[in-house]
Amino acid sequence: MGRIASKFGGTSVADANQFRKVKAILDGDPRRRVVVPSAPGKRHKDDHKVTDLLYLCHEMAAAKTGFTTPFEQLRQRFLEIEQDLGVAANMAAELATFHREVEAGASRDFIASRGEYFSGRIMAAFLGAEFVDPKDYVVMDADGNVQPQTYAALGQAMADETKRYVMPGFYGRDLHGKIKTFSRGGSDISGAIAARAVMAELYENWTDVSGLLMADPRIVQHPCHMDQVTYREIRELSYMGASVFHDEAILPVREAKIPINIKNTNHPQEPGTLIVPVFSESKYKIAGIAGKKHFCMINLEKSLMNKEVGFVYNVLGVLARHGISFEHCPTSIDSMSVILEEKRLADKGDIVLDELRRAVNPDRIELVEDLALIAIVGEDLANTPGMAAKVFTALAGEGVNVRIINQGASELNIIVGVKEDDYEKAVRALYLTFVTA
Ligand code: ASP
Repeated sequence: MGRIASKFGGTSVADANQFRKVKAILDGDPRRRVVVPSAPGKRHKDDHKVTDLLYLCHEMAAAKTGFTTPFEQLRQRFLEIEQDLGVAANMAAELATFHREVEAGASRDFIASRGEYFSGRIMAAFLGAEFVDPKDYVVMDADGNVQPQTYAALGQAMADETKRYVMPGFYGRDLHGKIKTFSRGGSDISGAIAARAVMAELYENWTDVSGLLMADPRIVQHPCHMDQVTYREIRELSYMGASVFHDEAILPVREAKIPINIKNTNHPQEPGTLIVPVFSESKYKIAGIAGKKHFCMINLEKSLMNKEVGFVYNVLGVLARHGISFEHCPTSIDSMSVILEEKRLADKGDIVLDELRRAVNPDRIELVEDLALIAIVGEDLANTPGMAAKVFTALAGEGVNVRIINQGASELNIIVGVKEDDYEKAVRALYLTFVTA
């Protein structure tokens, strides 16, 4: 029997009742053997996340202002969960030790990691599972890149398929053996690492929504969930601003072709979104629509540009010398554009334009600001005639002027650039055309 690795996010372990839901979910499928909890998140809108309280403890301790207020809140929360569940997880002693460690100047990462650690301790006691401390197995370099030895070591630590294991998310150790956390939201990465280490047949990511949405719900009212989406599509969508789970969490499972199922702890019967290695079908021809504001575009025109050896090289060289990365670079016979995030150019706009004038002597150069980029993403786009026409008809119908059109070499997306003021209108029009029409 294959195993399933199940990661539970902050709201899924926010209080004792949520812990009970987690147990019911795990008991519902005997393959669910590897459990990766986050630190308790918000119980309601105005609540604090445990991780935020921990960072506050560190800041206050470092500023020597005392950290009693956030510490007491943390203490109450963990003791309450432990008591309410009726388990013995040694929380009072663990918290007292932690208090001393903070006083003694424990590192920021160590302090932040304790949210997942305590949560994992309680979860292991509650489930009667074996506790696996990621500091003993998950090794990362200074940039948070997971070291390859992690998988074999962790796989061995969780080798017994008849047992249930709990490994806290969010942290591991650095190359010097010190506790190190991933970036915020990093328990998703830990879950993916655990799934890969045991070669799970599925990585479940339990959260408080019933899957990923096809568009931003702040712009489109009640967008549909994605039933199935590929790793490649998710990558494009999250890069273009869709708030899916942690970007870096895809890599470990993608290499091992383990599918990911985003599920809702509060509605476990709902299918959620399945992220799969290979595309099979799509109901709407697209996976989703995502976009971002705050882009700008440098347009350069020069007659016979196509014959001038090194034109593009020289343009990009100017940007490189200023350490400016760019997003897209569409060209035509006598012109090229460079599209970049506004913050990359910051206040260097005039200098960069001047240098470009000197470097390539263009007939015309202009900087267009306040642009938004929208990506229409789908593996099926490339094989289906009329997709681009649909995009432009939708936008024209709303009177939106398209400033940029770009279809990436991956043929996974069509990217359009519009004025920032038209952004929301454009996303709504595209959604209506592809999904509800
Ligand atoms: N607790 C950490 C955070 O709040 C990690 C996670 O929940 O994924 O960022």
